[in-house]
Amino acid sequence: MQYVSTRDSSLRYSASQAIVQGLSRDGGLFLPETIPVLSLQDLKELRSLPYVQRAARIMKLFLDEFTLEELTEYAQKAYRFGEKFDTPQVVPIVAVEPKTYLLELWHGPTSAFKDLALQMLPYLLTAALKKTGQTQTACILVATSGDTGKAALEGFRDVAHTKILVFYPEKGVSEMQELQMRTQAGDNVGVYGVKGNFDDAQTGVKKIFSDPHLREKLANGGYFLSSANSINWGRVLPQIVYYVSGYCDLVSQGAVAMGEKINVCVPTGNFGNILAAFYAKQMGVPIGRFLCASNENNVLTEFIRSGCYNRNRPFYHTVSPSMDILISSNLERLLYLFSRSDAEVRRYMEDLTQKGVYTVLPERAEQIQSQFSSGDCNDAVTLQTIGQVFSQTGYLMDTHTAVGYHVLQSYREKTGDETVTLLASTASPFKFSSDVLKGLGVTNPAGGFMALEQLAEKTGKSAPSPLAGLRGMPVRFSRVVAKEEMAQVVQEMLL
Ligand SMILES: *Cc1c(COP(=O)(O)O)cnc(C)c1O
Repeated sequence: MQYVSTRDSSLRYSASQAIVQGLSRDGGLFLPETIPVLSLQDLKELRSLPYVQRAARIMKLFLDEFTLEELTEYAQKAYRFGEKFDTPQVVPIVAVEPKTYLLELWHGPTSAFKDLALQMLPYLLTAALKKTGQTQTACILVATSGDTGKAALEGFRDVAHTKILVFYPEKGVSEMQELQMRTQAGDNVGVYGVKGNFDDAQTGVKKIFSDPHLREKLANGGYFLSSANSINWGRVLPQIVYYVSGYCDLVSQGAVAMGEKINVCVPTGNFGNILAAFYAKQMGVPIGRFLCASNENNVLTEFIRSGCYNRNRPFYHTVSPSMDILISSNLERLLYLFSRSDAEVRRYMEDLTQKGVYTVLPERAEQIQSQFSSGDCNDAVTLQTIGQVFSQTGYLMDTHTAVGYHVLQSYREKTGDETVTLLASTASPFKFSSDVLKGLGVTNPAGGFMALEQLAEKTGKSAPSPLAGLRGMPVRFSRVVAKEEMAQVVQEMLL
């Protein structure tokens, strides 16, 4: 299977090339030229397999240079129960109400959904380096709104032929997220706070990528740049797996009959996770509508309703910081999938860069609206939702998942659509303990580890061991840089 860029579809790349490069030189994102299809019979067969086998088979359909044996071995290592994941199911589904199932994506080593992709990506990337004959060291640059950074560090630490440098918004992540990153172990890692927000960090990284002068300097020093953000196809692909898997499990639990349609609701920031669900539908998983849920940074909600993407708006720091994003990179892939026109996508992205706003053609907006609904949720309602769901059902959600839950509830009230829905539960509530406590009615919650313990005590649930284990770990990284300094820092670290 060949890959193309969203901004220039005249060139073809192999899967390995797409994964190694991360971002196309023209600034576009790689995607597969065609989408493989799963029949109902294929879904039935996948249903009888454990997660690891499902992952290997689904990924194989997109990666013809890899053997099923290779991919099975990677999946076994990436998702190993006990060592990496705290449940043998890897991604369990849990019913909170008769028609609402949570897809629990946070049982991995850093307690957020990013682990599903970032435990896998190092294997894919290392193998892809070999397959492409790349002999230089891959320097992975990451801009993070909190969870990607830690998951990428954990995935790539001490992986041969790689270095990883992470930039996070200095004041834009939760206390626990920051501590997770600053205490990171490994000899090939670097972590920096950036004075600015996530978009500043992401723009800084994209600038470094598109600076030919800097690339050449790094190449002379034995390095090339790669990405572990969801702009890398190797991030999106392992995420498709859990939507297919979640559907299989819904059938197994008797929630739907094989072939019956479900809806999928995803709390969204960079549009990566929901895009993976869209791919699952293109492959043949029976999905009706996608609900795209935003916090107060509701640029996507508005876009889906109006067809106008406008990032010229205030940026809010919310209680769901991993979704504090105004430039949603992966939307570009959706626009390409609907338009099939690199020229059209290029126009939108040029407008976005130059004016901060673009409006899609009316037929594009119609196509999107025929499958996507959207909604948003402010902090007060997010916290209220956590409290309401916990008191009514005993289920404890994190702040991001609560945004999705609220948007799903309002959608149902508004439309009367009672379709069985898979809601992506994207992080452990213990990652955001202080705010979750507020949602449970605690007016003055403790900070840091005290909050972790307070939440465990209040709810009778226990914190994931990787979070509890951070206590007493030495802080290794505390440097904060201006966004203009990011390129300099990369050179200092590598050359
Ligand atoms: C990254 C993240 C999101 C947003 O995911 P996207 O793929 O960027 O849309 C939502 N919730 C949590 C907990 C996250 O870490």
